[in-house]
Amino acid sequence: MNLLPAIREDHDPFAIPALLPGPQRLLIFLRWTSYCCPHCKTVFHKDFWPSNVRLGCGKRACRKCGRVFDDGSREWPELGRAQKFRFYLPPGIQAITGGLLFCAIFTLVIAPRDVLNIPAGVIVFLVFLSPTFVWCLVRLLWVQRSRHRFENDPHAMQSKMETQQIN
Ligand SMILES: [Zn+2]
Repeated sequence: MNLLPAIREDHDPFAIPALLPGPQRLLIFLRWTSYCCPHCKTVFHKDFWPSNVRLGCGKRACRKCGRVFDDGSREWPELGRAQKFRFYLPPGIQAITGGLLFCAIFTLVIAPRDVLNIPAGVIVFLVFLSPTFVWCLVRLLWVQRSRHRFENDPHAMQSKMETQQIN
């Protein structure tokens, strides 16, 4: 059964003020995407990053009108490689990880030469990248839950078999 897809609306109210010189340029980052029920236009989800990957069975019943629609979420086995990567490392986390990597390298560059060795370098990287590791560990739990849902949902399994027959 084909469900109507959710309506996506991008909001960037500060796009024009951010074009002017000055500190208000940072307002460019204050933007969001809202997803609405295709039947009654009730917002059911907001994201502060565009094209965020959401895990779920894809079906959602609207809290206002009660009708079922495709909310755009997909289970882990249905995602492509790029989407899987984006789920683990969305743009904000990529930026933070890049900054932490820079700090780790900077620490190694300014460290006295007599204390530098491979184990110390590994420890510096592990300490600086630990927030990213914790983030990925939490994401891994979500992925496991998604896999479990996919393997135990007869509808998802049916669509998987149909996909395999087509291929
Ligand atoms: Zn609705």
